[in-house]
Formats: sequence, C-alpha cells, structure tokens
Amino acid sequence: MTKTGDVTPPLAIAGAGIGGLTAALALQRQGHEVVVLDRAEQLSEVGAGLQLSPNACSVLDELGLLGTLEPFAYSPDCLQIRSGKSGDLLAKVQLGNYLKQRHGHPYWVVHRADLQGALLKRVQETPGITVQLGAEVTDLASTSFDNLSCTYMQGGQKQSLSCRALIGADGVWSKTRRLIPDHGNAKFSGQVAYRATIPVEKVPPRWTGDSGLWLHQASHLVHYQIRGGKELNIVALAREDWQDETWSAPADKTALLHLFKDWPADVRNLLALPDRWLKWALCSVAGDGPWTHGHVALLGDAAHAMLPFMAQGAAMAIEDAAILARHLPASVDNIPAALRAYERQRKPRATRIQGRSFQNAKTFHMSGLPGFARDTVLRLSSPRSLSAKFDDIYGWKPAG
Ligand SMILES: Cc1cc2nc3c(=O)[nH]c(=O)nc-3n(C[C@H](O)[C@H](O)[C@H](O)COP(=O)(O)OP(=O)(O)OC[C@H]3O[C@@H](n4cnc5c(N)ncnc54)[C@H](O)[C@@H]3O)c2cc1C
Repeated sequence: MTKTGDVTPPLAIAGAGIGGLTAALALQRQGHEVVVLDRAEQLSEVGAGLQLSPNACSVLDELGLLGTLEPFAYSPDCLQIRSGKSGDLLAKVQLGNYLKQRHGHPYWVVHRADLQGALLKRVQETPGITVQLGAEVTDLASTSFDNLSCTYMQGGQKQSLSCRALIGADGVWSKTRRLIPDHGNAKFSGQVAYRATIPVEKVPPRWTGDSGLWLHQASHLVHYQIRGGKELNIVALAREDWQDETWSAPADKTALLHLFKDWPADVRNLLALPDRWLKWALCSVAGDGPWTHGHVALLGDAAHAMLPFMAQGAAMAIEDAAILARHLPASVDNIPAALRAYERQRKPRATRIQGRSFQNAKTFHMSGLPGFARDTVLRLSSPRSLSAKFDDIYGWKPAG
C-alpha cells in the first residue's frame, strides 16, 4: 500500500456529479479515504430528468440510498410510443411494477438535482469522504515513484493534493481525459436537447401517468413525471447546428416551436406551456478509447458519454462506480493493474450500450419507408416483448 509517512493518502475524484459521488461512497466502503473535487462553486439545481433503471437502482440499493430517493422518484407503469406526425399510439413498453418484479429493483425517473442531492447528503454524512467545491482538477503529477499529487485550481490559486490515484468523473467535457494519451475529445452530434420542467397541475391530464416517447422525422419528444410525480419533465430533441459546453444555456421557445412546426397541435400546446427552456448540445465520447493510464482512470461521461437515446448515461456512470470500487480494495498494491482490470470489465458493456444509443438515434428519426416499417413492427409488438429487449441492460447486477 502506498504511504506518505504514516498516513495513507486519499483517492482523489474529479467531479461531484452522479458518477463521482457514487464512486466516493463505493470506494469509502472499500476502506479508502476519498477527496472529491468539483469545479462548481455550488452544486446547483441545473438539469432535469434522468432515468434510473433497475441496473442503476441495484447499485443505489447496495449503498442504502433507495429509501432516501423514493420520495423524489416516479415510477411510470408504461412508456407510450407515439407517432409525432399523426399522434397515433404505436406501442406500449411495460415499465413500473413489471420491471421491479422481473429484475428485483425499481424503474424510476428522477430530477438529476434530487439524485445528486441524495448522493451528496450521504457523502457528507460519511466519515472518510471530503468534498471540495470550486476546485478544478488540472493534472496529476508524480514527484517520486509512490508520491502522486493531484493539481487543482481553487480561488485562482494552484493547489495540490497528495493522493493514491485520480478518478476522472468530470463529465463529457472532462479535463482529466487529457491525462490519458490517445483518448479523443467529445464530439458534437448535430442534435440539441431542449429541456423544461413544469408543475403537473399546469398540464392537461393526458400528459401525466405513463411516460411518452414521440417519434418524428429528425426530431423526437420525451416526457415523464419527476419529483414524486409533482413535475413533468419535457425533452424535445432536434437537429440544430449549435454547440456550447454547458447544461444551462437558455433556449428560445419560438425557435423550439419552429423546429416542431409539423407536430400535432396538442404537442405544440404542451411545448408552449413552460416559461423557461434550457438547451444542451448532445455530445458523445468514443467509449472504445483508453480509459486508464497509470494511476488515472475515467468513469461515466468522461470515459464514454453517450447520446440520450437509451437513457443510460447516469446508469452507466453508477455501474462504473460500483465496478471500479470492486477492483480497488484499500489493500490493493498495484493500482494501475486494478484500474486496467476495471476498464477491461466495463468497456464492452459501456460501448455496447453506447452503440445501441447511436442506433436508436437513427431509428427514432426515420421517415418514409423505413419509418413506416419501424412503426409497423412497433404496432405488432406486445408491451412485454418490447420491455424484454432491455433485459440485458436492466437485469445487470453489480455482483455479476
Ligand atoms: C449541471 C449538470 C446538469 C445535468 N443535467 C442532466 C439532466 O437533466 N438530464 C440528463 O440526462 N443528464 C444531465 N446531465 C448529465 C448527466 O448527469 C450525465 O450524463 C450522467 O449522469 C453521467 O454522470 P457523470 O458523473 O459522468 O458526469 P456529470 O454528472 O456530468 O458530472 C460531472 C461533474 O464534474 C464536474 N467537473 C467538470 N470538470 C471538472 C474538473 N476539471 N475538475 C473538477 N470537477 C469537474 C462538473 O461540475 C460536474 O459536477 C447533467 C450534467 C451536469 C454537470
């Protein structure tokens, strides 16, 4: 074990997002001291809905977090898939209790801020984990064989932290990724997500209950309830040549309604309801590039940011965190080898799901004959058979 004097240095985690906080909890359970550094001055309410499928919930269950999260979660019975052209119902996918019984853990949708808040609260209650905000990680330096230090900027000053390893959980625009030779940059997909949340009492009842996925040429719409059912989360995705490295850019409702001008009137009425829309440029990071180098490892979006067409971005970060911790008990001697073993285990699954989200990006936006064929297959499929297509994803458990 690496020691400086009598003190074992902590593991440093860059990023107090969903993956970083989950990793802090999982690694602390393995006996590590952990320091989480996030560049944000405060962990804000920015963001909207996230899917927590049974695979993610199985990790949160191990960490004892499901009870804390439940009041903030919503569990829709079904996903209704509709045509964004005609408004017709094409198919239903069974979710809710059906998935809970099938996989042993719930299927929830939550506000990202509620999930991050629950993780942060648990982190702050856990001895051995420290969170430092306003701390932007820039480098990992090695002063001698077993003396590593993570460099970060805080309050305009360069600081350093002695550590055993650096885990880069710093999201799609990761700086830690630059410490891994040959790992590429985030790539813009040419698509933008407009997002808004609105109290459910302000929307007609037809938009509540089941989740919705509406498919149209070059655009689609997703909606579901979050915050224990109190708010409706709306995501409208379309092609747009706009790029920005932020989750909080204000969006112009008129521009959104123009992008959705061919959609049914009741959808356009829904889109007109929220006062405030945000928009994000959808980017991905090639998951088949290297994730580790020496004492640095990436997880979550930093390693393999995916388009949200499988709604598995947060779940994959949570899975990564659980598996990283399994490879990294506090007694580990060869940290680089342990990090490589984590990468070997996680990469096939993360890249497979990333590939499915790229495929869905094409399928969701089909038109003409391919779109007609897709809709016909959907109409002929039963809710349970469509749900079963996700068994390999939702049935995953951290213990294997
Ligand atoms: C503010 C915000 C809002 C989001 N809202 C949504 C949403 O509503 N719906 C959705 O599907 N996805 C959202 N995402 C993305 C989603 O959280 C991730 O796709 C997914 O959860 C994977 O999580 P992650 O831990 O890999 O990265 P993230 O959850 O993105 O977390 C990355 C963290 O790293 C921090 N960071 C970045 N660079 C550095 C650095 N150099 N040093 C230290 N810290 C750094 C960031 O401040 C952030 O807290 C959001 C991300 C952020 C940061």
